Amino acid sequence: MKNGIKVAIVGAGPSGLSCAYYLALAGFSVDVFESQSKAGGMVQFAVPGFRLTYEAIDKDFKRVTDLGVNIRYETKIQTKEFEELRKDYNYIYLAPGAQLAADFRLDGNKTEGVLDSLDFLFNAKEHKDTGIGENVVIIGGGNTAMDAARTAYRLVGKDGKVTIVYRRTINEMPADQGEIKAVIEEGMEIIELVSPEKVIAENGKVKAILCSKMKL
Ligand SMILES: Cc1cc2nc3c(=O)[nH]c(=O)nc-3n(C[C@H](O)[C@H](O)[C@H](O)COP(=O)(O)OP(=O)(O)OC[C@H]3O[C@@H](n4cnc5c(N)ncnc54)[C@H](O)[C@@H]3O)c2cc1C
Repeated sequence: MKNGIKVAIVGAGPSGLSCAYYLALAGFSVDVFESQSKAGGMVQFAVPGFRLTYEAIDKDFKRVTDLGVNIRYETKIQTKEFEELRKDYNYIYLAPGAQLAADFRLDGNKTEGVLDSLDFLFNAKEHKDTGIGENVVIIGGGNTAMDAARTAYRLVGKDGKVTIVYRRTINEMPADQGEIKAVIEEGMEIIELVSPEKVIAENGKVKAILCSKMKL
């Protein structure tokens, strides 16, 4: 039964949609405002399709809209729009996520061929040119790094190579165990205990990466 209370949710990623689902179940009237043309946030735009299909995402999403949740796409909420929401709704839930990758402090990080992990995953998922070559080094040990590695592996072809460098050991990697296992089983090399120091360029393009050996 509806309780007559209106809630606006900013962002239709997992957080906004979960909130919408439970509030709608509890009888609230819910409108979700999403800046993109599709719902799902990072799960929709960054997590590779070989890990989570569009069908699975749509199925979850339908559970939310079946409860009568209204989603307004291509509606970015900024200061002016936020003030409007404050007038029109009893409550506002902010779920904009984290849309930018952290700045990577590495000498030479602006060299052509050094890619931002989220840009890379967004482009790959939309089948756009990602700008990678045949020999790819992935820096990091989280889920994003594993997804970037597995995506790159599918793009470099059989003569290509994908290597992950991580400053600690595999045991300390924050990525899910299943993801690390998949990376190893698919044939990528993980070099442990190395910390990137500098990108080495040739003719303005990335050529190599200089790393320091680490100890735990
Ligand atoms: C490559 C990758 C792999 C991952 N793998 C895993 C995993 O295996 N397991 C796991 O648990 N988590 C994983 N995560 C993390 C998980 O995806 C996030 O924790 C989750 O998406 C966060 O949900 P969210 O709704 O807070 O933010 P988001 O998913 O970022 O969604 C935020 C939404 O808000 C919208 N938005 C932002 N600003 C505005 C605005 N001003 N107005 C309107 N809309 C706005 C965005 O367009 C977006 O749709 C992964 C993340 C990445 C990037």
